[in-house]
Amino acid sequence: MAELTVDDLVVDYGPVRALDGVSMRVPSGSVVAVLGANGAGKTTLLRAVSGTLRFQRGRVARGEIAVAGTRVDGVPAAAVVRRGVTHVPEGRRVFARMTVEENLRAGGLGTPRRAAARARGRVRELFPVLAERAHQRAGLLSGGEQQMLAIGRALMAEPSVLLLDEPTLGLAPQMAARIAATIRAINEAGTSVLLVEQNVATALSLASYAYVLEVGSVALEGPAATLADSDEVRHRYLGIG
Ligand code: ATP
Repeated sequence: MAELTVDDLVVDYGPVRALDGVSMRVPSGSVVAVLGANGAGKTTLLRAVSGTLRFQRGRVARGEIAVAGTRVDGVPAAAVVRRGVTHVPEGRRVFARMTVEENLRAGGLGTPRRAAARARGRVRELFPVLAERAHQRAGLLSGGEQQMLAIGRALMAEPSVLLLDEPTLGLAPQMAARIAATIRAINEAGTSVLLVEQNVATALSLASYAYVLEVGSVALEGPAATLADSDEVRHRYLGIG
């Protein structure tokens, strides 16, 4: 069964059409990547799914978004989290003045206490460094550690689907590789992932299926291995050939 489905999603910001009839599915347990140039609509897509698009001025959205068969389009962000979908926005927006521990606790608000404690244990296993820095202000962490915290905070709600917006952007290659390995581990533990990533090689190595957005529409889609082998993708998106 498809965990997350998006059908014919259209989003306008005033006169600007950011998404023009996008449909995609994230099957249960999979990693699905969304590729595309700046401005293609990737962030808008994740914000539409997570319900945070509601706060954008001038936006009008239509189309159907469903999680495990239940419609979530038009539903407030907090209710989307309760449906099992959490969003790690671009730019690793942690609460800089709060401690690491407080950030994680904020991610678990609204989660039953037992589940939050279980999630806390899992986050500690995935990111031992966050346990070491529990009482440090989040703003003092390195970029990579802040990304770990942003992902850890999202995991505190025990999501069935994790939305990741450019998780390796701006990170040194070694740290980017660590984040990629963590995404794989999170998925192997059962969480589905919708991954927006500018680094096409990283995205296609993690995902089983990928969509390429171009100015608000799906220009290309297919199994990640097929896209990685396609001359068009290699040439246009990987700069090879
Ligand atoms: P990036 O990688 O740069 O974040 P993206 O693929 O995520 O790009 P979006 O941020 O979703 O793309 O933007 C899609 C289109 O919508 C772009 O043309 C952008 O300029 C426009 N847009 C995004 N947010 C707004 C807004 N709040 N008001 C008006 N136009 C917007």
